[in-house]
Amino acid sequence: MNDVAIVGAGPAGIAASIFLKRAGFDVQLYEKNQVGGLLLNAYSVENYPGFPHGIKGNELCKLFKLQLEKWSIYPIFKEIIKVTRGKNKFILKTTKDIKEFKAILIATGSKPKKLGIPGEEESIKRHIFYEIKDLIPIIKPESNCIIIGGGDMAFDYALNLTENNANVDLYFRSQRPKCLPLLENRAKKIATIKLHPFSIPLQIDELKNKTVIQFQIKENKNIIHSNNEQNDSNNTNIITSTSNYTLIAIGRLPNNDLISKDFIEENISGLYIAGDLRKGIYRQVGIAVGDGIYKAMCIEEYLKGNVLWKC
Ligand SMILES: Cc1cc2nc3c(=O)[nH]c(=O)nc-3n(C[C@H](O)[C@H](O)[C@H](O)COP(=O)(O)OP(=O)(O)OC[C@H]3O[C@@H](n4cnc5c(N)ncnc54)[C@H](O)[C@@H]3O)c2cc1C
Repeated sequence: MNDVAIVGAGPAGIAASIFLKRAGFDVQLYEKNQVGGLLLNAYSVENYPGFPHGIKGNELCKLFKLQLEKWSIYPIFKEIIKVTRGKNKFILKTTKDIKEFKAILIATGSKPKKLGIPGEEESIKRHIFYEIKDLIPIIKPESNCIIIGGGDMAFDYALNLTENNANVDLYFRSQRPKCLPLLENRAKKIATIKLHPFSIPLQIDELKNKTVIQFQIKENKNIIHSNNEQNDSNNTNIITSTSNYTLIAIGRLPNNDLISKDFIEENISGLYIAGDLRKGIYRQVGIAVGDGIYKAMCIEEYLKGNVLWKC
């Protein structure tokens, strides 16, 4: 039986893998997508120590990947679809095989919140995106992009898109965005980013390879109209906006599909969770890395049979 499986090669899973490998354990790191996780979307990481001038998320991911290679950790690119418990072991199921481990760390991060409005599901993958890393490889210069959301993620995406020569219309519900003032100030200095407060998305339609989104405007003041926005003649509180691509960045939820209720209620030894997956509202690389290392230390003690260790 293998020692440890780590599910998710984001910052938490990567940090835990390196710690456990250095401690002499046999580690298998599973990733369903790309090494780096959500961090691949970050435009500029300026608060992770060691990079005084900031670093792009995907560049930091490349360094993480190099560090995995240095320790001969080669992720297995398979999605874990089920975790079950046996006697003193955990059973991991992928679509193709089943493996047993003495301990397991689940670091599956978060998943996007959806708007839940008509037309959203139908447009996914063609025009609607939840992560910018999926849009950047296909975006054409001078594209019009709508971003829905007023937090750090939405503003980070807006700044990133303008570097890719896109025109950005950022729609959010409140009067003021909820992002860091620093990000708002940067966005306001860029002429191709237009901010639209008091805007509630109602419906998404596709028309001639574009998305047309209807927004209800809560109040008519403080709105800077974009070029591609039209007032609905029947109702002045509804506007429509047309774009080539739409990014939805209204928040994220823990990606806890693998964790059954029994696992949490029984507080099972040998099974740990780390990073953004935990319900905390503070989702940062430094926190994910620290949590990954902390849980790796718990696993080390568990595998050594140190029953006094409380994680
Ligand atoms: C736009 C943006 C900007 C950001 N900027 C910053 C910043 O400047 N500073 C900062 O500190 N943080 C920033 N963050 C947050 C940071 O990226 C996250 O906090 C961090 O990536 C969380 O790490 P994690 O390992 O917990 O989860 P994730 O990075 O989400 O990684 C989870 C991994 O698990 C994989 N996975 C999920 N389910 C399965 C499964 N069943 N089987 C196999 N693999 C699976 C996923 O594919 C993913 O790779 C930003 C985030 C975004 C979106």
